[in-house]
Amino acid sequence: MNLVFPEIPDLRYKSPSQRIRVLSETWMKNEMYCPSYGCDYLSKLPNNSKLADFRCESCGEIYELKSKGSPIGRTLLDGAYYAAIERITSNSNPNLFVMRYQKNLFEALTVVPKYFFTPDVLMMRPPLAPTARRAGYIGS
Ligand SMILES: [Zn+2]
Repeated sequence: MNLVFPEIPDLRYKSPSQRIRVLSETWMKNEMYCPSYGCDYLSKLPNNSKLADFRCESCGEIYELKSKGSPIGRTLLDGAYYAAIERITSNSNPNLFVMRYQKNLFEALTVVPKYFFTPDVLMMRPPLAPTARRAGYIGS
């Protein structure tokens, strides 16, 4: 297993978060297997897929990836609260990969099986202030 993120010479993203998303997703596609049934490969789903980030073509399991360059802590930020509730109570609830990295080096990966996600584990964030660009948005 190669622990260094891949070199992507023509990577056009300037934003550090977009760069790390591409590098970590490419690393996952190249190095990771499907932990549900030990299948050999994971396929990357299209960007902005509402379903998840990866799918195993052999068993059909889907996975979402969250990457952090700092200690993982007790909580993770997710998207819109009500959309997240709808997703985790649906039949298309993904398993979760939580990746920790430092600079361009993979450090650790935690897999959280989808059956651990229930509405009880989601925390509703306070709505954004009326002066915010996305006023009223409720994250999780
Ligand atoms: Zn599989």
